[in-house]
Amino acid sequence: MPELPEVEITARLLDGALSGAEVESALAPGVNALKTFDPPLSAIDGQRFLWVHRRGKMFVLELDGGLSLLVHLMSAGRLQIFDSRASLRDRASRLLVRLADGRELRLREFGTRQRAWVKLLRTDDLYEEDNLVALGPEAWPDPPPLLELLELLDQPRPLYALLRDQQVIAGIGRSWVDEILHTAMLSPFKRGSDLEADEAERLREAAVRRLGDAIEHYEDAIALPIPDKLPMPLTVHRRNGEPCPRCGDRLEAVFYEDYVMCYCPTCQTEGKVLKDRRLSRLLK
Ligand SMILES: [Zn+2]
Repeated sequence: MPELPEVEITARLLDGALSGAEVESALAPGVNALKTFDPPLSAIDGQRFLWVHRRGKMFVLELDGGLSLLVHLMSAGRLQIFDSRASLRDRASRLLVRLADGRELRLREFGTRQRAWVKLLRTDDLYEEDNLVALGPEAWPDPPPLLELLELLDQPRPLYALLRDQQVIAGIGRSWVDEILHTAMLSPFKRGSDLEADEAERLREAAVRRLGDAIEHYEDAIALPIPDKLPMPLTVHRRNGEPCPRCGDRLEAVFYEDYVMCYCPTCQTEGKVLKDRRLSRLLK
């Protein structure tokens, strides 16, 4: 599940690999992957990549002809570069950008759902694009200062939901929210509006440290070609049943339909084990 650190390292590697590379042609075999029609995808033929960077969990791939690709991997997408073109039709491919040097940039998506998307935009209009306009400030490297953060989070919603809301703060998803809340020793169900200044400061520091450490880890662990699965340095998320890395007590989980939230009762919820929604549904 690509979140800020995974998108950041991918953007860095792609930037190094693509800078100056010329597009020969591009196609979008995914049914609904390409969300724009003007300009047409063929407009990037012959253009060179200038810069690949990240905003929230999205990639921005700027080309030298004044166009940019905005890419969102959603929960199961990958943006990868291959030395040769797909010989067989790769069923996971949503976007193929063939380069003049024989390589190929591919947006691939694993699983049955097709949710990853691409927009081709004029670079001048890029930051007026709805998805980018709606984004909150970045969670890393420099999240909002304390007072601004307190104001952003001053909502009667649980931190677990607030921190994953890209319009509140950009870059955090289901994996890293568990890690950040555990590091900050905060309950996932504490309401944003109940946050004290020292708690918000811990949250801020935890986000900077955990996301930054993950990016550093990837810098050491990953090189081209970008692997299908990144070695995410998670210590709490999906570790339910294992000992807490801080206190050694058992990590617990709340299971939702298609994801899981993990936490340490001792470190985060004053010993309280939160209600498991899956279990309570079964017991109805
Ligand atoms: Zn603990």
